[in-house]
Amino acid sequence: MAQYKPVETEKKWQDRWEKDDRYRIDLTDESKPKYYNLVMFPYPSGDRLHIGHWYNFAPADSFGRYMRMKGYNVFEPMGFDAFGLPAENHAIKTGTPPPESTAKNTKTMVDQLKKIGTMYDWSKTLNTSEPEYYKWTQWLFLQMFKHKLAYKKEATVNWCPNCQTVLANEQAQDGTCERCATEVIQKPLAQWFWKITDYAQRLLDGLEKIDWPEKTKLMQKNWIGRSEGAEVVFKIEGHKEVLTVYTTRIDTLFSGTFMVMAPEHELVDQITTPEQKKEVEAYRKKASRLTDLERSDLNTEKTGVFTGAYAINPASGERMPLWVSDFVIASYGSGAVFADAHDERDFEMAKKYGIPLKVSLRPKDDELWEQVQNLEVCYPDDGILVNSEQFDGMSSQEAREKITQWLSDQGKAKKKIQYRLRDWLLSRQRYWGAPIPIVYDPDGNPHPVPEEHLPWLLPTDTEFKPKGTSPLGQSAELKERTEKIFGKGWTPEIDTMDTFVCSSFYYLRYLADGDADGFVDPAVEKAWMPVDTYIGGPEHACMHLIYARFVMMALKDFGLVSHEEPFQRLVHQGLVTNQGAKMSKSKGNTVSPDEFVSFYGSDVFRMYLMFMGPFTDGGDWNDKGITGISRFVDRFYTFILSDGDVQDEAASLRAVHQAMKKVSADIEKMHFNTAIAAFMEFLNEVMKVGLSKENKMMVVRLIAPLAPHLAEELWEVLGGKGSVFDEQWPEYDESLTVSDTVTLAVQVNGKVRGEVEVPADISEEDAFKLAAENPNVEKHLKGGEVLKKIYIPGKLVSFVVRP
Ligand SMILES: [Zn+2]
Repeated sequence: MAQYKPVETEKKWQDRWEKDDRYRIDLTDESKPKYYNLVMFPYPSGDRLHIGHWYNFAPADSFGRYMRMKGYNVFEPMGFDAFGLPAENHAIKTGTPPPESTAKNTKTMVDQLKKIGTMYDWSKTLNTSEPEYYKWTQWLFLQMFKHKLAYKKEATVNWCPNCQTVLANEQAQDGTCERCATEVIQKPLAQWFWKITDYAQRLLDGLEKIDWPEKTKLMQKNWIGRSEGAEVVFKIEGHKEVLTVYTTRIDTLFSGTFMVMAPEHELVDQITTPEQKKEVEAYRKKASRLTDLERSDLNTEKTGVFTGAYAINPASGERMPLWVSDFVIASYGSGAVFADAHDERDFEMAKKYGIPLKVSLRPKDDELWEQVQNLEVCYPDDGILVNSEQFDGMSSQEAREKITQWLSDQGKAKKKIQYRLRDWLLSRQRYWGAPIPIVYDPDGNPHPVPEEHLPWLLPTDTEFKPKGTSPLGQSAELKERTEKIFGKGWTPEIDTMDTFVCSSFYYLRYLADGDADGFVDPAVEKAWMPVDTYIGGPEHACMHLIYARFVMMALKDFGLVSHEEPFQRLVHQGLVTNQGAKMSKSKGNTVSPDEFVSFYGSDVFRMYLMFMGPFTDGGDWNDKGITGISRFVDRFYTFILSDGDVQDEAASLRAVHQAMKKVSADIEKMHFNTAIAAFMEFLNEVMKVGLSKENKMMVVRLIAPLAPHLAEELWEVLGGKGSVFDEQWPEYDESLTVSDTVTLAVQVNGKVRGEVEVPADISEEDAFKLAAENPNVEKHLKGGEVLKKIYIPGKLVSFVVRP
C-alpha cells in the first residue's frame, strides 16, 4: 500500500518549481486574461513568519492556483515592507545596524515563505528598505512636491525631554516615555504633509465602484467624515476679530449660551482679560501635555477656564461668555465651538462651572421633555424647535436649512461641507525610513533633490540613539554630500518618511519587474491594474488602504497611471485563535507554524487552517485537530494509488461530478472549509463504490489548489504529463450530479400546460422554480397573481392563478 511522505514530497516539488522557474510570470503575455492576486506584504521581523501570515498567504495562494487552472495568467508577487520602528529599536538596544538585522530577518522569512509552497514570482520581489526601491518612494515625494500636494507646516509631536527624542503614539502611552518614564510633552515641529484632503470627495465617491467589505467601506467613510453644516460668524465684544465656527447643529443655535475655544487658538492671548490671564496661562500649559487623543476622549472629565471675554450669539443676540477647554482641538474645524444644552460635553462643562443653559429642542416623549426642560438630562438628538423665535415648531432638519438661510442673508453664516480627514503627516524623526529628498538653501527655503540624485541615500555614519535631532542630523556624510552638490551653507532635510508611503505604491513596483529607470511601464500598468483581489487584515481598513487609494488617484492625475482605484476586490481574512483566546507572545499561546509544517507538511497545515472555519471569519486552532486532516491526506493518497474495480459506475460518476460542482463553487467564494468537507464526503463515498483511473486524474486536479504538493505528486505517479497546474480546471456536468430524473406534469388552473424533467430528489422550491420556467407554463402564468401552489413529488406541479 502506497504511503504518503509529505515532507520529502514537498521538498521535491518545491525544488522542482524553483528549478523550472515555474511561477515566473510574463507580464506582457496577452494570450490569457490576467489575474493580479495580491496579499499584503509582511514586515520582516525577527519573530519569523507567524500563523497570521500563514492564514493570510496560504488560502490566498489556493485561490490563485484555482484561478490559474481556470485559465488566467495569475500574478502572485511577494515582498517586504522593511522600514520601520522595530529594527530601529533593536539597533538602539543591541547596536546592530538596521540594514543588517533586516537582511537577516528577510532571508529567514523567504526560506519560510518558500516552504508554504506558493506561486510567488520571486523574480519580481522587492524590499522597501533597499535603495533600488526607496528611490521610487523619494520619486513619489518629488511628484507630490511638483504638483503642490506636498507642503511643510508646524504640527505637534510627542517629545521626551530626557531622551531628547520624538516618540510615536505607541511609545508615549499614558503620557510617559516608554524608555525612561519621563513625562512626555507636546512640542511643535515643522513637518511635511501630503494634501490627501484635496481628494476627500473622490475617496468617498470611489468606494461605490469597488468590491470591498461593507464594514471596511463604512470605516473609510467615517475616517473621511463628510458632514454638511454651516459656518457661523460670532462677534467678540470689544474686538474687531470674529470667531468663525463650523457646526452641523445650527438648529440648536438659539440655545447657545457660551463658547469654547481650544487652548491653542490664536485669539486666546488677545481676548483674555488681565484678571483671567494667570489662570488661562496655567490651563494652557497643562493642556499642552495631553495628546489630541486623550483630549478628545469622551470619558475624561471636562475642564475649562473663563477668558473674561464675551461673544454675541448671532441668532438670539445674547452675550456668551468665552471659555477655553482642552476638549476643543485647534486642528479640527476652526478650533472654537458654540456651546449649548443639547451637546453632552457642553452640558457637562456648564453644570460643572455653573454656566447658564437653556433648551431649544423638544423631544417627542413628554416625560423626557420634563427632564430636559428642568436641565436634569441633556437631549442631544433631533427634536422640535422651541425658544427659537420664528423657527419654533420646525423639525431640527427643517430648521437647519432655514436658520442657515436666514443668517446667510445677513452675512452671518454660510453653508459648508466639511471633512474630518486631515492631511497626511509623513515626517518621521527616525533613522530607519526613506530620507525625504529635500534640501534647504542658506535662507532655509526647501528645494527638491533633483531626480538624477536619487536614490538619495540613507547615510550610514549615524548612531541610532537620538541626540536632540532626528538621527540623520548626526550624519557628517549627509551634510557634506548636500554642500558638495548644492553649495556651501545648504543643509539636508533630516526626517524620513512614514512607512505608509512605502506601502502606498508597492503593488505598482511589482509590475515594474525590477526596472531601475522607470516607475512602471504604462502598458503593463494599463493591462495589470487594478489588483483583482487584495487579501489582508481588517486592521488596515483606514490608513494603508486610504493612502494607497489616494496615491493611485494622484498618480492618475499626474498622467502616470491609467487607473484610479488600486484594489478592485478586497478580502479580509479572519483571525486564528487558540482555544478561543487571541494568540499573543505575552500570553505564550502562539502556534509556531514551522514545528507543524516540518512534521505534517505544508499541505496538511494549509488545509487545516482552511478547514478551521470560513476564511473571512477565522477559526480556532487545536493541536489535535490537525491530525484529522493528516489522516484524510493519507487516506486520499492511498486510495488514489490503489487498484480496485468500480463497483457502481453511476454512483461513482455522480460522486465525482457532485464534488466538482461543490468544490468549484466553494473555492470561487473562498469557502475553503466547505470545499474540504466536500472532499472528505467524496472520499467516503468513492471508497465504497470505486473510482476509475480517468476520474482519479480528474479529482487530483480538483484537489490541486488546496494541496498543491500532494496533487503534483499524484499527478506524476498516475502518469499525468507536466504539472497539474498547467491542466484545466475540471468542468462538471450538471446532469451527472443528480441521481435519477422524473417527469413532472405542470398544471395552470387545472389544465396541463407542460412537462419538466427534474432530479428525483428535487426540493419543493426548486420544483416550482423549474416548472415556472417552462416556456408554455410561463406564458400562462404571466401577469397573473399566484394564489396557490401544489407539489406532488414525482408527479405534478400545479399553479392556481388569478389572471
Ligand atoms: Zn525618555
